[in-house]
Amino acid sequence: TRPKEMSAEVVDSNPYSRLMALQRMGIVKDYQRIRDKTIAVVGVGGVGSVAAEMLTRCGIGRLLLYDYDKVELANMNRLFFRPEQAGMTKTEAAAQTLAGINPDVAIESYTMNITTLQGFDAFKASVTNADGASRVDLILSCVDNYEARMTINQVCLELEQTWMESGVSEDAVSGHIQVVIPGETACFACVPPLVVASGIDERTLKREGVCAASLPTTMGIIAGLLVQNTLKFLLDFGQVTRYLGYSSLTDFFPTMDIKPNPGCSNPLCPKLQAAYQQQYNSEEALAARS
Ligand code: ATP
Ligand code: ZN
Repeated sequence: TRPKEMSAEVVDSNPYSRLMALQRMGIVKDYQRIRDKTIAVVGVGGVGSVAAEMLTRCGIGRLLLYDYDKVELANMNRLFFRPEQAGMTKTEAAAQTLAGINPDVAIESYTMNITTLQGFDAFKASVTNADGASRVDLILSCVDNYEARMTINQVCLELEQTWMESGVSEDAVSGHIQVVIPGETACFACVPPLVVASGIDERTLKREGVCAASLPTTMGIIAGLLVQNTLKFLLDFGQVTRYLGYSSLTDFFPTMDIKPNPGCSNPLCPKLQAAYQQQYNSEEALAARS
C-alpha cells in the first residue's frame, strides 16, 4: 500500500494544480488568465531558451520565438539544449522540446535576423494584429548585442509595447533585467546602455573577436528574474522591478528606476513621454478633485 501522503487526493497528477495553489494561497487572483497571454521571446540562447521553458511550464497561452542561429555543441555549457539537437535551428529545437513539455502552449517560431530591413518588417508584422495594434502582452529581449536591442526598442516604441530587456556581462558573473514602458520609463535609446549607474560592470555589448565567458548559473538566474517579473506583470501580483541588477561575486542585487530622457535620440520617445505626462497630470487632477 502507498503511504498516506501519496494517496491520489493529496498528490494531484494535474500539472496545473501546483500553479492553481498560488490562487488558493492568495498570491495570484486568477491564475487561469495566463492561458490568454502571449509572450515574444527574442533570442533563444542561454537566457531566452530557459525563459521560454519556464513560461511553458507555467502554462503560458502562446509563445513567439525568434532566433537566426543554430544549436552548437559549444552551447552545451548552458541549460536547455541537448547535444543531439546540434545543427538544428534554435527555434526549431526549442519548439520541439517545449511542445513535448507542454502541448497546450501555442508556439510560433521565427527563424530570422530581426535587425535586417526585411527582418525588422517581419518581426514587427509578427507582433502586430490586423488593427495595427500589438498582439503580444510582453516582449522579452534575450539577445546579446546592441543592434538587436535597438531594433526591439524601435518596434516597441512604434507599437507602444512594454518589453523587458535582459543581459549577462561578457565575464559571465553579472547581469540585469530592465522593464521598458514607452513614454513612462527610459527606453533603450534614452541612456547609453554601458553607463548604467549600478556600480557593477555591465558590458553587455558583444565585441567582435572576443570569446565571451558564459555560465549556466548566471544565465539561469537572469532568466528566473526575468520570468518572475513577467509573471508579476501578467498576473498583476507583487511589484514589477523596473531595473534589477545581479552581481554574483558579492551577491549584490541593485534596483533602480531609470527616468526617460527628454533629449532621447529616438524622436518617438519624447512624444510618448509628453503623452504619458499629460495622462499622468490629468489623472492627478482628477484624484485631487475627488
Ligand atoms: P555565444 O555568442 O556565447 O556563442 P550565443 O550566440 O548563443 O552564444 P546567447 O547570449 O546565449 O548567445 O544568446 C543570444 C541569442 O540571441 C543567440 O541565440 C543569438 O542567435 C540571438 N540573436 C542575437 N541577435 C539576433 C538577431 N538580430 N536576430 C535574431 N536572433 C538574434
Ligand atoms: Zn528614449
